[in-house]
Amino acid sequence: MGHKEFLTEAVRLATEAVERGWGGPFGAVITRDGEIVARGQNRVLLTGDPTAHAEVEAIREAARRLTPHAPTISAEHRDEGTLACVPRPEGSDDPLPRRARMLKGCALYVSGAPCPMCMSAAYWARLDAVYFSCGFEATREIGFDDAFQYEDFQKPLDERRIRIEQIHPELGATAYAAWSRKPDRHPY
Ligand SMILES: [Zn+2]
Repeated sequence: MGHKEFLTEAVRLATEAVERGWGGPFGAVITRDGEIVARGQNRVLLTGDPTAHAEVEAIREAARRLTPHAPTISAEHRDEGTLACVPRPEGSDDPLPRRARMLKGCALYVSGAPCPMCMSAAYWARLDAVYFSCGFEATREIGFDDAFQYEDFQKPLDERRIRIEQIHPELGATAYAAWSRKPDRHPY
């Protein structure tokens, strides 16, 4: 399977989301070694969850399937960091010699250009590539305008659409200190 087949599946998922009334026309697949390992589709209308974008759904499914040994949150397993690590790539300016693999080695195919949340999720997931079909302009034309979000991020905090300001930095510092003190902290 290649680019076109993967994108075709993403578009099928997108169309299904529309036809069933689950959400906007957005579908996604994640691939590794030429195979689909996860699928996602927009289900914002179905769930009422504004983060239920196709890309996020696909990343979550891929993470569940590709990191089956990730620790679950429970009293007994709180401390077992078992995410697989990979060495820092040659020439990387990453300060850590090793980091969690996450979805390194995978690619994301989406029916439409990703919003800032989904693109950010792609960075956190360490995806190798993101391929989209419909562009930013076409997405805006059907009523999904996220260009202002990309623009807002570039403004100083006090000029943004949503109020964001730092308060009581000393409170959060105690959690940061707990992380820095932890000798076996997992380098994700
Ligand atoms: Zn999105």
